[in-house]
Amino acid sequence: MTCIDCGGPSLGKRCLKCYKASRIRESKGWTDPKTGRVWIRLPEHPRAKKNGYVQRAIVVLEAKLGRYLDWPREVAHHINEDKGDDDPKNLEAKPRPIHTRDHETKHEFTREELVQMYEVQGMSLKEIAAPYGLHWSTVAIQMQKKGIPRRRSGKR
Ligand SMILES: [Zn+2]
Ligand SMILES: [Zn+2]
Repeated sequence: MTCIDCGGPSLGKRCLKCYKASRIRESKGWTDPKTGRVWIRLPEHPRAKKNGYVQRAIVVLEAKLGRYLDWPREVAHHINEDKGDDDPKNLEAKPRPIHTRDHETKHEFTREELVQMYEVQGMSLKEIAAPYGLHWSTVAIQMQKKGIPRRRSGKR
C-alpha cells in the first residue's frame, strides 16, 4: 500500500510518520482568538513555549518536510491564508524575507472591482486571482469580508 499523505510505502492508510502527523493535525488544541492560529501541547518540541505549547502549523509542516524548520530563517506559511487550516497541503516553508514581502504586496480588491469581475463578467476566483499571483482562496476571503455571496454551482 502507499500512504495517502506522502505516497511512500505503508502498511496501512498512512505510514507511521504521516499517522503521527495526522494525529497532531486532528488534535484540537487551543485556538488563539486574535490570530486564528492553533496551539497544541508538545513540551518536548524545541519551539515549545514555557507553557509547553507550540504552533500546530509548525509541527504539521515539519512532519511533512521530515525536518525541523530553520528558525528564524524559515516560517510556516498557510497557502489559503486561513491560519486555522493546518492541513499539510495548505502549509509550506518560506524564507522569512520572501514571506514578509509576499504578505505586504498582497493585492486588496475593492468591492466594486470584485462585483464587476465576479458577478458582472462571471469570472472565476482563479481567473481573478491569477494576474496578481494570488491563491483563489485569498479572493474568496476578500469577497466574504465585503459581503459578496459565492455562486452555488458552476465554476468558482
Ligand atoms: Zn506518509
Ligand atoms: Zn504567510
